[in-house]
Amino acid sequence: MKKILLASNNPGKIREIQAILANDDIEIIPQSAFQVPDIEEVGLTFIENAILKARHASQLSGLPAMADDSGLEVDALDGAPGVVSARYAGPGGSDADNNAKLLRELEKIPDAERTARFRCVMVFLRHAKDPSPLIGQGVWEGGILSEPRGSGGFGYDPLFFVPEKNCTSAELTPDEKNRLSHRGKALRELVAQLRASMK
Ligand code: IMP
Repeated sequence: MKKILLASNNPGKIREIQAILANDDIEIIPQSAFQVPDIEEVGLTFIENAILKARHASQLSGLPAMADDSGLEVDALDGAPGVVSARYAGPGGSDADNNAKLLRELEKIPDAERTARFRCVMVFLRHAKDPSPLIGQGVWEGGILSEPRGSGGFGYDPLFFVPEKNCTSAELTPDEKNRLSHRGKALRELVAQLRASMK
């Protein structure tokens, strides 16, 4: 069984990835198994940050590693919060703080101009010095509401309106969200490349 380190300790992400790889003879190991600490995400792009995380985890564990980086891009804010989505309201800010800041920034923006998308990049490094990582990318188009709705998911989900379901991503079941989301798409794209490279 091939072991792949996942540069995350998020049990939801680990479950989701393991489920997609259920028939692939691959074991996903969380980075906590090797006491890999989180690193500072200093990259200016999602790809850079995902590679930084995977390289760091591979260096410390000696295993091939997978990592993702994701965020929200709002058109009326020139793509903000982007790579700083997790810390938009400042270091240590909560999801609620980030959502409150987003609503303040969009206060004067009419509904038709509140278009936005979630983006996710997921990378795989065969080893820490791998010069050609596999890269999967996923985009989820939607808009930003004026007040939160729903209690599922995390982060900006209560404000992210999903046009094809006429609800927010916080109102979807976890399965529905995985089928549509940027993360699900990036992961499936990466897994297809991983399978092809293992043939
Ligand atoms: P990271 O990919 O762990 O660096 O986190 C990126 C940040 O983007 C999260 O902390 C959330 O604020 C936001 N984000 C990414 N994906 C989602 C999502 O599926 N729903 C809501 N917020 C998200």
